Amino acid sequence: MFKNIALIPGDGIGPEIVREAKKVLDKISELFGHTFIYEEADMGGVAIDKYGDPLPESELNKCLKADSVLLGAVGGPKWNGVPGNMRPEKGLLRIREAMKVYSNNRPAKIWQQLADASPLKKEIVEKGIDFIIVRELIGGIYFGEHKTESNGSESIATDVLKYSESEIRRIGKIGFETALKRNKKLCSVEKSNVLDSSRLWKKVIHELAKEYPEVELTDMLVDNCAMQIVKDPSQFDVIVTENMFGDILSDEASMITGSIGMIPSSSLGETTKGLYEPIHGSAPDIAGMDIANPIGTILSAAMMLKYSFNMEKEAAAIENAVSKVLDMGYRTADIMPPSGNENYKKVSCSKMGSLITENLAN
Ligand code: NAD
Repeated sequence: MFKNIALIPGDGIGPEIVREAKKVLDKISELFGHTFIYEEADMGGVAIDKYGDPLPESELNKCLKADSVLLGAVGGPKWNGVPGNMRPEKGLLRIREAMKVYSNNRPAKIWQQLADASPLKKEIVEKGIDFIIVRELIGGIYFGEHKTESNGSESIATDVLKYSESEIRRIGKIGFETALKRNKKLCSVEKSNVLDSSRLWKKVIHELAKEYPEVELTDMLVDNCAMQIVKDPSQFDVIVTENMFGDILSDEASMITGSIGMIPSSSLGETTKGLYEPIHGSAPDIAGMDIANPIGTILSAAMMLKYSFNMEKEAAAIENAVSKVLDMGYRTADIMPPSGNENYKKVSCSKMGSLITENLAN
């Protein structure tokens, strides 16, 4: 297959981790007979320095023309002083809007080799944690009307939580499609005992379920879901939920896996074109030191292969290589257990990328 991939290295550790992901993609193309053509685009602080704009038209167009986009991270203290509409994060919002990606998908997966890093009890972790949260990204209360008024004696603030049937249907579809590519279990999370928007959510998701008879659908109230994620996360395969619930639950879910440097994400819309990025930021404190963990970005590349290019075997090859390298005891500094254990070997960002590349097999 022939695919155009836009790479946005961005700021801080971004260029270091994206370089490693590209190394892995190059080896995948060689092993599986694909051609990946890359185009680099500037976004974030690097683009502010070059063009005075966190995402100029020329750079955005490179991304819109590509089959998919892989992003490192943007931002850093150097640009803290720039005006709000020129901040590096504006580039992120602009690209999400321009690509019309309304679904953010974050896997919560515990690598058994790193189980000690989870704050959960060993017996819970041992049951396995491997689920994905599909979060609606551009609707709901974050995008409803916000206002603060005074009634003469005090201030009253209002935030509107609004969803249309079509907005729910399109995110629901991504939830079902994601479940189809995994273990075919979808949990729809809402607050239908209280909120009208949640009752509409539930109704639309159940209508949609008729189109996906292979997927087992369950409903869960958001407060219960927050408890279940720490009590028995092994019960979940795919969770689909609205923007604010997803924001909170996905942070909870990333915490239980124990290591921010390991977690990938994807943002998808109507088409197969997606925006793939690790969930962490640009880590300015370790930028340029070749010690960052590139695995979150490498696994984001694997998600791109699976969800945008339908390359299931290739994605699995990357996940297997990551697992193998962890089995061999290689760790970047952030996932290195406390000193004194000779079973582990501390490696740099570039070495980790090379080890994963060398362990790829078709
Ligand atoms: P951060 O995720 O960059 O860093 C938090 C801590 O985790 C730091 O100690 C860092 O060294 C460590 N860390 C993060 N990723 C790591 C990796 N791959 N390997 C090893 N250690 C890693 O969060 P922050 O410090 O709050 O933010 C730094 C900058 O990143 C800010 O400018 C922020 O706005 C930006 N940011 C960007 C994105 C994005 O581009 N999507 C997301 C979050 C934050």
